[in-house]
Amino acid sequence: MSDRAGAEGRLRARLAEVTDRVAAQRRAVDGIVESARDSNADDEHDPEGATLAWERQQAAALAAEAERERDQLLAALDRVAAGTYGVCEVCGRPIPAARLEARPAATRCVEHAR
Ligand SMILES: [Zn+2]
Repeated sequence: MSDRAGAEGRLRARLAEVTDRVAAQRRAVDGIVESARDSNADDEHDPEGATLAWERQQAAALAAEAERERDQLLAALDRVAAGTYGVCEVCGRPIPAARLEARPAATRCVEHAR
């Protein structure tokens, strides 16, 4: 298996996990919205409503985070197809394999990571 095929397989495996997580978090948000509606909770005055609002916010934040990761993985797959995967976008040097294994969607080498 070439490096490129290895990278693509790793990205696709990670993408499948993240896609599941997006779906699970969306279901969690929907479930909290449902139960808030069922309990007829008032976010402002009912302590249970405030808890539900907080839980909904947390679940929505996790869903957004998973979606962001999914977008990064899709962009990384585009780079694999274009032949630019694993190259630092700042200095153009190869990103070390160990870093790509830990962070398959990395676009920068360690030195240029933020
Ligand atoms: Zn760099």
